[in-house]
Amino acid sequence: MISDNAKKTNSLADDIESVLFTEQDLDGIVSKVAKEITEHYYEKVLVNKEKLVILGVLNGSFQFVSDLVKKIDLPLEIEFMFASSYGKKTKSTGEVNIQVGKNPEVLDDPNANIIIVEDIVDSGNTLSKLMSVMRDKGNKSVALCSLFDKPERRTVEIDVDFLGAKVPDEFIVGYGLDYDEKYRNMPFVGVLKREIYEN
Ligand code: 5GP
Ligand code: MG
Repeated sequence: MISDNAKKTNSLADDIESVLFTEQDLDGIVSKVAKEITEHYYEKVLVNKEKLVILGVLNGSFQFVSDLVKKIDLPLEIEFMFASSYGKKTKSTGEVNIQVGKNPEVLDDPNANIIIVEDIVDSGNTLSKLMSVMRDKGNKSVALCSLFDKPERRTVEIDVDFLGAKVPDEFIVGYGLDYDEKYRNMPFVGVLKREIYEN
């Protein structure tokens, strides 16, 4: 049993300045994206018998992927990857290091349509490198799906094919998005209080 006092000091919601998207808002956003994806790939998958692969970028996309695939009414495969930029800190252009989970060969499948699923596109640096690596792989198509987009912060041009919602230039957490690996388990999305990361 957690005491009321412990509950109070441990509540993640106490660290949130304002709620941007409630659980209900997120459900509507995810349904909209799933519908767009289903309509776009319907013929390719059901008539032309092409593969559809949902490729989630960990860890941030885990909640989004989980809810999204439940709403896509098509046969599909689910794979996950880690993408991390490395290289010298003073350089803005690092290589992108990609690690794919269980079945990396699916990305080279000439019959596969890949949808990379991200939590949020910010500067766009990581994703633009990721997309160029993926486009060299010889699959049928590569598309980008992101739950959120912060267009004000973009430094490289990148097209999001399936977008959930635009967000203002604020640091947001919840529904997969973290600060210092925390808050990913919150069912809603909010702006983190500045005092949490400025201390
Ligand atoms: P970029 O587009 O700059 O290469 O990197 C995007 C990544 O930065 C996202 O996948 C996410 O991990 C992180 N990020 C960007 N903006 C936010 C934000 O507002 N909140 C959180 N939690 N992560 C963010
Ligand atoms: Mg990320």
